[in-house]
Amino acid sequence: MIKVAFFDTKEYDRASFAQYGEDAGVSFKFLETKLTEDTAELAKGYDAVCVFVNDTVNAAVIDKLYGFGVKMIALRCAGYNNVDVKHAFGKIHVVHVPAYSPYAVAEHAMALLLASVRRIHKAYNRTREFNFSLSGLTGFDFHGKTVGVIGAGKIGRFFIDICRGFGMHILVYDRHPANDSNEYVSLDDLFARSDIISLHCPLTEETRHMIDRNAIAKMKKGVVIVNTSRGGLIDAEALLEGIKSRKIGTACLDVYEEEADVFFEDRSGHIMDDELLSRLISMPNVIVTSHQAFLTEEALNNIAETTVTNIKAYFDNNGICDNELCYRCGNIEQCKKERKDKCF
Ligand code: NAD
Repeated sequence: MIKVAFFDTKEYDRASFAQYGEDAGVSFKFLETKLTEDTAELAKGYDAVCVFVNDTVNAAVIDKLYGFGVKMIALRCAGYNNVDVKHAFGKIHVVHVPAYSPYAVAEHAMALLLASVRRIHKAYNRTREFNFSLSGLTGFDFHGKTVGVIGAGKIGRFFIDICRGFGMHILVYDRHPANDSNEYVSLDDLFARSDIISLHCPLTEETRHMIDRNAIAKMKKGVVIVNTSRGGLIDAEALLEGIKSRKIGTACLDVYEEEADVFFEDRSGHIMDDELLSRLISMPNVIVTSHQAFLTEEALNNIAETTVTNIKAYFDNNGICDNELCYRCGNIEQCKKERKDKCF
């Protein structure tokens, strides 16, 4: 049996992971706590740890895990901005789930967009109170509007397809533009021309706060911003300022830079310490979901299946796993390494 300490467990993780794990000879110890420097001790005696988006996997945690003999960090998500991959190189192998359902995230981005622009969240609350007034519920047609998509990878592409179905005009900014029929433009051009901007690129040092005061100043008045990628892409204070000044018409946020201590938990009945988040949530033109874009049955099954396959591949296959995040290959996103040998 391969023993895996599973951090930040939620009720919806248990069923799928237990089932795939049992069938494949991988046993999970489900821990509710997040992985941090203080909780890393819980991984003693385990072959691998399984972590999610808000676990801390910095240099100090990696050193502790390495000291305990943990051989693998299995991310059960695509993004890996919370892992010091460079520090892990030569010590612990890092694997992720590169795609589990890009549709789930792209569809959630459109769900947020439709709900916010057509004021569905307001209407839902009103009709529950038998208030059938339409006052204040005016939206706008998507047909003919311009949507700027930042990051045309797996999720961005499906989002583009969905927007095409609505008859929208699409502009794309990507650091590595593909040779396809999309209209690739500069970031400034995208900011200046888009009615709606949707973020689908990873969080890196380069993209952190790509939506800041400067960027917002370049956007159209009334722009709708959708972020289902990572909170750190947006400077939330600048976003709030943009909303207060009426420059930003609507913000749809599935992620938030300081989400780690708040999202995924029931905080109702608690005093919210994060005043910025409280302020954003209090705005009538902001919709927040708590990092929910991935949460479909199909995605959960694919996440569990791929994570178990990653773990098995590493331990049963001389350490070779297709979904390894290999720092040695230089550009981690462009890794074209032939996986005939172990990374280290
Ligand atoms: P992907 O790797 O397939 O695509 C990312 C795209 O971003 C690529 O085309 C890449 O070239 C581009 N890119 C990289 N750096 C860039 C930059 N500096 N500027 C512009 N574009 C850049 O990834 P994906 O599967 O489409 O996922 C995108 C992001 O969505 C992930 O990084 C993750 O943060 C986020 N995500 C969120 C959820 C959720 O539940 N909210 C779920 C899964 C993924």
